[in-house]
Amino acid sequence: MNLKEKKSLELGRVYLVGAGPGDIGLITLKGIECIKNADVIIYDRLINTRLLDYKKKNCETIYVGKKSSNHTIPQEKINNIIAQKAKEGKIVVRLKGGDPYVFGRGGEEGELLYDEGIEFEIVPGVSSAIGGLSYAGIPVTHRDFASSFHIVTGHAKKDNNLDINWRALAEEKATVVFLMGIGNIEYISKMLISNGKDPNTPVAFVSWATRYNQKTITTSLKYAKKCVDENNITAPSLFVLGGVVSLTEKLGFFERKKMFGKTVLVTRTRSKNSKLREKLEKNGARVIEIATILINEKENYQEIIVDKIKAKKYDCLAFTSSHSAEYFFEAMKEKRLDSRCLANTLIASIGSATTETIEKYGLFPDIEAKEFSGKGLAKSIVSYKIDSLSEANKKHKIVIDRVLFPCSEIASTTFEDALENFNIDVDRVEIYENKINYSIKEELINSLKNEKVDYITFTSSSTFNNTLELIGNENIHLLENIKKVSIGDITSETIEKSGLKVDMQSKIATIDSMIETIFDDIK
Ligand code: SAH
Repeated sequence: MNLKEKKSLELGRVYLVGAGPGDIGLITLKGIECIKNADVIIYDRLINTRLLDYKKKNCETIYVGKKSSNHTIPQEKINNIIAQKAKEGKIVVRLKGGDPYVFGRGGEEGELLYDEGIEFEIVPGVSSAIGGLSYAGIPVTHRDFASSFHIVTGHAKKDNNLDINWRALAEEKATVVFLMGIGNIEYISKMLISNGKDPNTPVAFVSWATRYNQKTITTSLKYAKKCVDENNITAPSLFVLGGVVSLTEKLGFFERKKMFGKTVLVTRTRSKNSKLREKLEKNGARVIEIATILINEKENYQEIIVDKIKAKKYDCLAFTSSHSAEYFFEAMKEKRLDSRCLANTLIASIGSATTETIEKYGLFPDIEAKEFSGKGLAKSIVSYKIDSLSEANKKHKIVIDRVLFPCSEIASTTFEDALENFNIDVDRVEIYENKINYSIKEELINSLKNEKVDYITFTSSSTFNNTLELIGNENIHLLENIKKVSIGDITSETIEKSGLKVDMQSKIATIDSMIETIFDDIK
């Protein structure tokens, strides 16, 4: 029974979604929505797998691209999987590179769904044939060069006979884009020239368009095959010919980005898409993010926090990490404890990232450390107290005698020690654990061994110590030729203690300043 005859709606639904050409930002809002709602995602080789981070927890993912043995899964088998999952009543997303209907066999999959009586929708995507070329600085049309464009497959369905009207293609004043054309480049260029195309027509090859490893190479039609051989151009690549190719020099914005071609290994804590990653990628860098730390709340910590707040005996609440602030305020929220409980409590923060977290909860720190360290925060608290004790300064009403210090179980004691020297009591409450993430050990070592990493960033001593622990002493040399970027004095000291050199230190302890430091190095 096909869709036309079908009455009931008991089956699942299939979305054929275009993932865009590779840059994760080039999928549509609707595409992301589909990924978030999917029960099953069936995806290809050319999609950016980071898109799968948006899926829900129990969503099943099925890879149907080329396997390690280099065999593709036959289309019939893919069709069967899609239909079977939908018949189980699931929401299925078939995620395809570019646009599903541009040489993606989306039409065939749609027809099958119709025949099987399964509801489906198409979510168009940015095709590499247009969007990929844009990133290479090649507009498919331009009044001076092309009044039409043609998107052509360079891969024949059966034998080697491309069903193409070569004469028409050769005669048009048009941009011609070949997809899947690299293997047939000799035949394609020969056919175009023998049908009248000027052998000097400018052509370009754009490989891995919109990705960190995008590469644009230009030549003329008569040298196309030679160019492929000499530069070892492989799939996925676009082959484009026409006058518009000459614009790449002016319009090729992507490969001109400041950090294009650079790889940064970011050792991070918990958050998935860190600010550091986002900003580096915006500037064209390739970012490899490795979570060296696993953070988990401690058992019963919420109850302990609530009791402490209810006791109302603290003049100041101090945070030396954004995690502690987040866990603390989440506990209040969870236990429905109103922020007004903290009306007579000052809030002290170690630096801008922690302050940002506190501000998310509608509270604004009274004290922020001038130096990014536990000791630095203690100093700022002491000077606040001295200020508030002075007769002349009437604006401070609270005198700090007792501090509540929610922290990680591995937080150093320098903060408490420094305050206790000034007769300020500190109640240290360990609210979360901070463990090394051994599950990424292999990935980290492989990245250091096999990828050309230019920079590695350390935003705390523990990210560095954990990195060392994970790679082991026998691999410490892998860090030698990578520029090490540290966020501040303490982290730098920790790095140098291991015998490694710190190549760059951020001027102030913020992510923005860290990025500036890397930019200055590239200049
Ligand atoms: N539906 C896809 C095309 C699938 S056919 C789209 O709309 O883009 C696969 C071919 O597309 C590849 O062989 C290559 O020629 C091209 N292609 C896809 N993504 C590409 C990319 N990021 N860079 C260069 N070519 C790409």
